[in-house]
Amino acid sequence: MAYLSLKDINKIYPNGFHAVHDFNLEIEKGEFIVFVGPSGCGKSTTLRMIAGLEDISKGDFLIDGVRANEKGPRDRGVAMVFQSYALYPQMTVYDNLAFGLTLQGIDEDIIEKKVKNVASILGLTDYLDRLPKALSGGQRQRVAVGRAIIRKVGIFLMDEPLSNLDAKQRVTMRSEITDIHQKTGSTTIYVTHDQTEAMTMADRIVVMKEGYIQQVGTPYDLYFNPVNVFVAGFIGEPPMNFVRAVVKKGKITIGKNTLDISSKLGDKATKYEGKEIVFGFRPEAIVLGESSDSLLIKASVELTELLGDNTNVYVDIQGERAILKVNPHDTPEMDSDISFSIPMESVYLFDGETEKRI
Ligand code: ATP
Repeated sequence: MAYLSLKDINKIYPNGFHAVHDFNLEIEKGEFIVFVGPSGCGKSTTLRMIAGLEDISKGDFLIDGVRANEKGPRDRGVAMVFQSYALYPQMTVYDNLAFGLTLQGIDEDIIEKKVKNVASILGLTDYLDRLPKALSGGQRQRVAVGRAIIRKVGIFLMDEPLSNLDAKQRVTMRSEITDIHQKTGSTTIYVTHDQTEAMTMADRIVVMKEGYIQQVGTPYDLYFNPVNVFVAGFIGEPPMNFVRAVVKKGKITIGKNTLDISSKLGDKATKYEGKEIVFGFRPEAIVLGESSDSLLIKASVELTELLGDNTNVYVDIQGERAILKVNPHDTPEMDSDISFSIPMESVYLFDGETEKRI
């Protein structure tokens, strides 16, 4: 039996807005689950229903096999970290960390031991006497995380905890949170709109769109086996390139290029004859020039962006735009004509109507 079960969970807000539809998920003890999706897709609403901060309109939420829909936040054994940190501004770091334990009436000596332990895990030992206003964003964030982990709860919920940090701090905190998760072994559900956070931190990712789960899987699954155009476009940076085209005798035409995709369509070739499909390939999957068992495309270079470890090349395929990721030493000239190959195994085809993977 899974540790946390969400069965057909729905959220309909009092104004009638249906924010989450038939959300089904089983979470094992100790898993690090990330809910990811664009703004407004229902990630926070789902997390808040798990936390007990929001009523579940329909469906069952079980903790260890026991229905928890009616349990209050305190009885669920959850600790939550918010985007806003929610620290007490008039209290020192020490008191912020100790606050939850003091409320529980725990012995001062034990509290001190716990606070010092958590402070040392999070690198806050030298800041215990400071007020939150005298801390950097990253340090405040660590206090917020510390306040959650000090309670030793089974379930750790985080809602965009890194969004107030700068890019460098985010990278550092990402690995710190993963590290803390490994040390504490707590089950973690983490909400973000950032696919890089999802890919680097999650055991499993839940991709959401407009209140519906699109796909649940490991980062590897979602990257290599996306079920639809939305997931394929959401996971990966720069995103997958998509071109719409009509199948004619197993071939499609993109600009001046005729591409034989019959081997990819396989026994579905007849079904898609004369129909529109979405042809997808990842920027990093291409090879400059010709290559065997690949589709060759001619294009012209519009713009190049040298990023250091690679170059993003923006190309025009006679009216269709695409981004290619190439080795910086192979950066083509602006306005030059190039050809590139997409290995057959890196070609993704989607139904033009349903946008589901073919
Ligand atoms: P973000 O990344 O912007 O926080 P999210 O995926 O977490 O987005 P939610 O906050 O869960 O999205 O909101 C989902 C949808 O529900 C949104 O369209 C939002 O406007 C709506 N919503 C949120 N709270 C309420 C409310 N109290 N009453 C009505 N609708 C709400």
